[in-house]
Amino acid sequence: MHLQFQGATRTVTGSMHVLTVGGQTILLDCGTYHGRREEARQRNSIFPFDPASISAVILSHAHIDHSGNLPTLVRQGFHGPIYCTHATKSLCEVMLRDSAHIQERDAEFVTKRHRRKGLPPVSPVYTIKDVESTLPLFQGIDYSNTFQVTDGIACRYEDAGHILGSASVALTLRENSHAVRLAFTGDLGRPHLPILRDPVFIGNDGETHYLICESTYGGRFHRPVADMEDQLLEPILRAVDRRGKIIIPAFSVGRTQEILYVLYKLNRAGKIGDLPVFVDSPLSVNVTEVFLKHPECYDAETKALLETAEQDDRLGFRKLTYVRDVEESKGLNDRSGPFIVIAASGMCEAGRVVHHLANSVSDPRTMILIVGYQAENTLGKKLVLREPVVNIFGEPHEVRAEVVVLNSFSAHADGNEIVAYLRQYDPKSMRDVFLVHGDLDQAEKLRDRLRELSFRSIAVPARGKKAGLG
Ligand SMILES: [Zn+2]
Repeated sequence: MHLQFQGATRTVTGSMHVLTVGGQTILLDCGTYHGRREEARQRNSIFPFDPASISAVILSHAHIDHSGNLPTLVRQGFHGPIYCTHATKSLCEVMLRDSAHIQERDAEFVTKRHRRKGLPPVSPVYTIKDVESTLPLFQGIDYSNTFQVTDGIACRYEDAGHILGSASVALTLRENSHAVRLAFTGDLGRPHLPILRDPVFIGNDGETHYLICESTYGGRFHRPVADMEDQLLEPILRAVDRRGKIIIPAFSVGRTQEILYVLYKLNRAGKIGDLPVFVDSPLSVNVTEVFLKHPECYDAETKALLETAEQDDRLGFRKLTYVRDVEESKGLNDRSGPFIVIAASGMCEAGRVVHHLANSVSDPRTMILIVGYQAENTLGKKLVLREPVVNIFGEPHEVRAEVVVLNSFSAHADGNEIVAYLRQYDPKSMRDVFLVHGDLDQAEKLRDRLRELSFRSIAVPARGKKAGLG
């Protein structure tokens, strides 16, 4: 029995761990790696094993850095089952199709540039056709239900409280007469996030011998989730006062629905009047529909709130408009404030939000609310740093809008929350803890804190690192 770490090692993308038990090999996650263009292309198109030799995939959740490389796996010969929760299955249908579209468009764009330079065309890593051959392999599984993956691997999903359908995984591994228990947190959410249930501890009936744990914010601390409403309300009211546009860049899955939910509560409480809200992203529309189809993932508060809502009012309060059409999206440019527009991408690198920023970033009445992680060198990061001038579509724009960063909106547990979660394990039965899905400094800070909990061995594995189990 052994485990090999092939992705999300000392970084936050490309989640993929290879587990071999009794001669059969499965994957935990099969995500897209993001990084410099050429390196990412290589990593996402060449697997360090033969995809046809993989018996099954256990998927933790739908985010593309966990699920996005499944169509390539299938294209290259994998034909086994892909296990996940029902909501993850529904989300992946929408997200993988969207991912294929983006890749087809990107490849077209690069090919055009290559043609001018006399270079050969590039093809997308995968296409919509590959996605259509992948989707039938998905098998939705109930939470808290133990099922057999291979002869030697039994699996149970519990709610990770991170995004809709997200799961942590408890595995019992048997080889000959030997059994060990392995837990995989997947991406770990936080208690009290809107809509979602709180993370469920992924213990294995008392004893866990090995743990793979995420560490995205292992060395950082978030504002409490309870602050979300006030954090959002205060700058909104300020912008309404000066009749400004309120632009919220947000990824289409998770964050957009959380913000809508908080706005919905503010609206029902009469705190934002009849302020119009536009969700300007065709993908967000589809994803919100998926959210409404999976009430089995809601927490008690959301269930109660939506039960008392009118049928056509669920997460879609009267002043909420979904914008699918590009022309309609452009129309928002001429509309005078105040209103809220939520648009992707979350880091302002692509998508419709870039057009809204180009149009309104130089207007001092505009409010830009940053609610997600902004990576280095992105437009979102430049706004956070309050650079006086930013380039958008190659043109300089003076930043006169007000930029407010709201840090209670993270969907990942912070350092304290991960430590509190891991305190529930018995350090005496735990043989190894592996920290993945975090930049090296975050994983190392978390490792240093976990030493207080007297775990015997805490590793931050490099890519390709193998660990024997049992
Ligand atoms: Zn995630």
